[in-house]
Amino acid sequence: MTRTENNHNGSDETQKTKLSFEDADESMYDGGDNNADVADDITSADYYFDSYSHFGIHEEMLKDVVRTKCYQDVIYKNKFLIKDKIVLDVGAGTGILSLFCAKAGAAHVYAVECSQMADTAREIVKSNGFSDVITVLKGKIEEIKLPIPKVDVIISEWMGYFLLYENMLDTVLYARNKWLVDGGTVLPDKASLYLTAIEDAHYKDDKVEFWDDVYGFDMSCIKRKAITEPLVDTVDGNQIVTDSKMLKTMDISKMASGDASFTAPFKLVAQRNDHIHALVAYFDVAFTMCHKKMGFSTGPKSRATHWKQTVLYLEDVLTICEGETITGSMTIAQNKKNPRDVDIKLNYSLNGQHCKISRTQLYRMR
Ligand code: SAH
Repeated sequence: MTRTENNHNGSDETQKTKLSFEDADESMYDGGDNNADVADDITSADYYFDSYSHFGIHEEMLKDVVRTKCYQDVIYKNKFLIKDKIVLDVGAGTGILSLFCAKAGAAHVYAVECSQMADTAREIVKSNGFSDVITVLKGKIEEIKLPIPKVDVIISEWMGYFLLYENMLDTVLYARNKWLVDGGTVLPDKASLYLTAIEDAHYKDDKVEFWDDVYGFDMSCIKRKAITEPLVDTVDGNQIVTDSKMLKTMDISKMASGDASFTAPFKLVAQRNDHIHALVAYFDVAFTMCHKKMGFSTGPKSRATHWKQTVLYLEDVLTICEGETITGSMTIAQNKKNPRDVDIKLNYSLNGQHCKISRTQLYRMR
């Protein structure tokens, strides 16, 4: 099974996984400029460590119109942020954000990409006539040398599932600390995580209770594991039972790396009588430096994105009446062994008419 088929998703669609490259074979990064030859040498073993080398994952991101069009609008409608500026594109992929910036009149764009896609980005930049404005640098942000001491703008699409999975935010903060000029711009500069609660009997049956009786056999030991793994999937707006609360907002232009680990309290108020099977997390990002504030949400009431939502199943079914509240807290931390994984601790309690419960559950995005 490849990383792109992991269990963050109930469906079989291609996954975006902003993988780190620490475990990858370093020889993958050696290859020179000879794109066609290099690309033909890539095998499934390389993709296992480096799914961003394959165009499929970039196709999925580019076709996520909510995502890509938002970045395009931010750049084209706010040229004052980019025109005559030195821009650093952190994790350039196909180079799309660099191309937007070049078109908006950037003085120069440094497009840094560590996967094999860097070779392709260079080819794309050339065939679109931007070779003298965009310099593609192949390597990890943490390891490359920029030919200039400071940049005016850092742009990046670093967000992972559950916002923080894959931990590319650290790479952006590293670049900001090292190269961003005082008073420079980070795009986007705000990211917020939200929580709500849903009715989801049908899917919980399919994904969790399923293991109780598999062709007549008890596989409930897998059920205990399954429930600890948040599921990345699309939630229907009709499933939402409570209001939605912001857990945390981060200012990418100011925050420290440690700020992405936190404990946040929440209080969700039921908007109807129903059963609750899961809590659902989602995020939004904002570009507050724009003339008019811009951004997008990955919430269940917004147009779907490839990030979908992240569903955390509860061990109990909560029977809740309109107006009753689920109170609790969520602790989010990088996993110590694998910093790309996210550990989640959820405390929740309901002291309702039909249901009194207080519980702690642990989850891990891996
Ligand atoms: N900017 C592109 C791609 C976004 S996906 C777009 O918007 O379509 C994030 C990209 O960052 C991937 O291509 C991945 O290979 C790259 N990346 C992740 N960590 C990196 C690092 N430490 N240094 C350089 N590139 C990195």
